[in-house]
Amino acid sequence: MTLRIEHLSKSYGLGVRALDDVSLSIPAGVFGLLGPNGAGKSTLMRTLATLQQPDSGRIHFGDIDVLAQPGRLRAVLGYLPQDFGLYPTMRADETLDHFATLKGLTRDAERRERVQALLQQVNLWEVRAQRVGGFSGGMRQRLGIAIALIGAPRLLIVDEPTAGLDPAERNRLLDLLTDIAGDALVLLSTHLVEDVRDICACMAVLDAGHVVAQGAPEQLIDAIRGRLWRKRIARDERDAYRTRYAVISSRRVAGGTTVHVVSETDPGNGFSPLEPDLEDVYFHLLCDRKAVDGSH
Ligand code: ADP
Repeated sequence: MTLRIEHLSKSYGLGVRALDDVSLSIPAGVFGLLGPNGAGKSTLMRTLATLQQPDSGRIHFGDIDVLAQPGRLRAVLGYLPQDFGLYPTMRADETLDHFATLKGLTRDAERRERVQALLQQVNLWEVRAQRVGGFSGGMRQRLGIAIALIGAPRLLIVDEPTAGLDPAERNRLLDLLTDIAGDALVLLSTHLVEDVRDICACMAVLDAGHVVAQGAPEQLIDAIRGRLWRKRIARDERDAYRTRYAVISSRRVAGGTTVHVVSETDPGNGFSPLEPDLEDVYFHLLCDRKAVDGSH
């Protein structure tokens, strides 16, 4: 099933245009929505989850007209918001049981079976009797995903689930999302390039309410291949290079700074060609956008 978003716009009060004519076609699998803080990711996620209305635009999930038929969408939706509350003194299995009851699983045996299967799926079976107040960030997120999966959704929306997780917990969560994508379209928002690089077959970059790119990560990387150059410079030369070249990133390294520059032709002056990665793509897109806005 495909999620189709057409010309979606949303403003908050005067001046803040959180979504500006956003159109996306999202195929099955894990889709990565990448963007800096304030890009509009949460606004888009909440709109898709039918928690708020856009000013204009259309959304279809398969044959469901999401804005006209929010009830139909909710029946097949799992949504993990950025912040969600849990009762700290409840055990993990009690928590899931509670949410399963709220979701309408009122038959005891059926609910017990579902809770058990979910605890196993998100790898919390061993700690099911522990109080969730003592859970690590990663365990908490996996429990949140189990809650979102109670209704066996066809569309799972997860808003920045890896924020604040250590690398091992992050990997475990990304593996889980990959598994889930066998049964549901998974829409993952993140400000971490690595999340998208590691698990998303398709992605979009959102910046200041605009979709600045969409496609397969490899496609986006191909688009700047042959135009990326690198040079090690002294730390105090950085500003001078920024005025002379299209610097997309600079990173301090031992004894100096490495700058990455986009240029159609060899800039000479000691630059060497560089094989781009997804982070270069991302910085390049965000730099281009700033140039368009005149704020660069
Ligand atoms: P992201 O999730 O990418 O960080 P958000 O969707 O949270 O982006 O925010 C996009 C923009 O809309 C930001 O400028 C933010 O300050 C603004 N915004 C978000 N929610 C509200 C709200 N409820 N009221 C007013 N402004 C908001």
